[in-house]
Amino acid sequence: MEYTQDGDLKQAHATTEVIVSGGTLESPKLLLLSGIGPADKLRHLGIDVLVDLPGVGQNLHDHTLSPIIYAAKQGVPPPVPGLQLMHSQLFWSSDNKLPGPDLQPLFFHVPVYVPGMSGPADGYTLMAGHIRPASRGFLRLTSADPSVPLEINPNYLSVQSDVNALVHALEICREIGAAKALDEWNGGELYPGPDAVSKKDLECYVRQSVITYHHQVGTCKMGVDAMSVVDPTLRVYGVERLRVVDASIMPSVTSGNTNAPAIMIGEMAADMIKATSRAQPHAGLRHADSLARPGLRRQRALPAIPFERLHRWQRTGQRRLDAGQCGSIPTATAGHPERHRPPLH
Ligand SMILES: Cc1cc2nc3c(=O)[nH]c(=O)nc-3n(C[C@H](O)[C@H](O)[C@H](O)COP(=O)(O)OP(=O)(O)OC[C@H]3O[C@@H](n4cnc5c(N)ncnc54)[C@H](O)[C@@H]3O)c2cc1C
Repeated sequence: MEYTQDGDLKQAHATTEVIVSGGTLESPKLLLLSGIGPADKLRHLGIDVLVDLPGVGQNLHDHTLSPIIYAAKQGVPPPVPGLQLMHSQLFWSSDNKLPGPDLQPLFFHVPVYVPGMSGPADGYTLMAGHIRPASRGFLRLTSADPSVPLEINPNYLSVQSDVNALVHALEICREIGAAKALDEWNGGELYPGPDAVSKKDLECYVRQSVITYHHQVGTCKMGVDAMSVVDPTLRVYGVERLRVVDASIMPSVTSGNTNAPAIMIGEMAADMIKATSRAQPHAGLRHADSLARPGLRRQRALPAIPFERLHRWQRTGQRRLDAGQCGSIPTATAGHPERHRPPLH
């Protein structure tokens, strides 16, 4: 492989196998630049096609957040260096028929203003969170030059059920925010504010205020269908001795924060790699012969990552909603004179 370091082009050679572990945005980029991806799009950019894998860069998805921000009646103690701003979270279901939680409201002891919002520094946030998104985005190369930025389209809230779930989470946050126990702190709802009452108001607000939870996954999907990029032992279909080992292989995002699952992927991959090299020192060579295309057959029984246990959900019947109807974020309707905006991290 070739890489640059301090401006110099260098080469490295692997004798057993190569592990790509650049994360959900960079791993597919490396594959695409290497000619592993949708053949027509790669050719269009002048990249020689090594393997036609249409799933590389597809299936991009993430958890989403939308804040309810309150002014504080009394001074909220400042953030403590080294400690989180987020203090509690709730795992909840928007529908009793769901097999598990699809919402994850969070509490922050600061006002989490998203771009376009402003308000006082003394405040707090009940953050609506949705953790079972159906919307899927993509990323793709815009050039064969590695230094040119990717086109990244997360396609957030492109499926109506994702909007509905986030609205449901907002309603839960409002209910908690209005609890008597918070009376001594509650100086009024700043965002979305008392004028946002109807479902339509809240839908619009969700579309205006949605932010990432930084849990992007899925762009080198593990699986056995035609859009899968890696097999259940994380080997890239059609390429010898190449695995992807990071959050990009998740077929669908876990119902909770992604750092521990990413570590689990790394640990399981280490076991699989060790098992492969013990059993067959040159197993990767045979892999390419036997798995030229997704979904054909598994070569041998190595322990596969048990994602099927984490995800048994399918969403159907969703439709797109026109985001253009919602205008811009409304101005805060309660609270104190604006002060500085506290850093989030
Ligand atoms: C701001 C933020 C806050 C988060 N907070 C939490 C949290 O509180 N809890 C939680 O569970 N999860 C959190 N996450 C998510 C979590 O960090 C990720 O899910 C997890 O780190 C994914 O692991 P990964 O190995 O796939 O990718 P990464 O951890 O991103 O690792 C990829 C590595 O590859 C390197 N790399 C990429 N391209 C190249 C290249 N071309 N050459 C050399 N190196 C390269 C990168 O520098 C990086 O070190 C947060 C994420 C962000 C961005």
